Amino acid sequence: MTSNTVEPGSSEPSRAVVVTGAASGIGRATVELFAQRGTGVVAVDHDEAGLKAFAGDERIVTLAGDVSSEDANRAAVALALERFGRLDGAVLNAGIGGTLPLEHPGALEAAERILSVNLRGPILGIRTAAPALRASGGGSIVVTASVAGIRADPGNWAYNASKGALLNLVRAASLDYAVQGIRVNALAPGLTRTRITAGVHENPALLSLIARNIPLQRFAEPREQAEAVWFLISPAASYITGTALVVDGGLDASLGLLP
Ligand code: NAD
Repeated sequence: MTSNTVEPGSSEPSRAVVVTGAASGIGRATVELFAQRGTGVVAVDHDEAGLKAFAGDERIVTLAGDVSSEDANRAAVALALERFGRLDGAVLNAGIGGTLPLEHPGALEAAERILSVNLRGPILGIRTAAPALRASGGGSIVVTASVAGIRADPGNWAYNASKGALLNLVRAASLDYAVQGIRVNALAPGLTRTRITAGVHENPALLSLIARNIPLQRFAEPREQAEAVWFLISPAASYITGTALVVDGGLDASLGLLP
């Protein structure tokens, strides 16, 4: 694990968050949005090269680490306290796909890795962020689930299971932490133009076929997900806990019988 060091500037951010899966896609857009709006960010990813994109922005410190490791989660919170003196939010966003067919010889190993990143990662993230959020007088946690945790798609059982479990993890954790002033919610993105969906974007015929089944007729941009995260983390969402904000262009509302 490594971090870049940032000299304290004259305009120190008054709020700070940790964002995981920060080097790409939704996480990267979230880091950029929070930093632009004056929030200090600890950007965590195992893609050390990808984190270099944030070099030179004094509101962002980076940490190369794997979210399924307790040490990496502890290091992220410690870095927030060291650099910004507080922690107000945690965006537990890192996630992977890679489900193999149920009877494939490698299916269990692949599923264990998916559950380790997508479910163990946020469990560790909540455990390690909570004491620092309490010390800051309360806070907000957002876990990136998916519409694939509300409904299922063929051949995606391990990912579907991991994201479905996250939605109930969020409900349960919200009950445990409400009295401590810590809100816990999920973001449930629909199809979003990131590295995970790059295969679709590189295939225009497939892209238009899929987009036709989305009521808004297109994929989300990462920034549109980041705006929803911003809302859930912010005091504007002060009475919202234990729920999921579905940002999917209407996909979950549809029976898939669009003309
Ligand atoms: P992405 O691949 O662009 O970004 C994911 C980031 O997480 C990458 O930078 C990757 O290096 C990082 N990461 C992966 N495993 C990690 C680990 N073990 N430790 C630290 N970092 C790790 O994909 P994205 O679409 O931005 O995905 C972000 C989240 O959104 C994921 O949880 C994903 O499941 C979820 N999601 C995405 C979509 C979509 O259509 N793109 C839809 C629903 C949910």
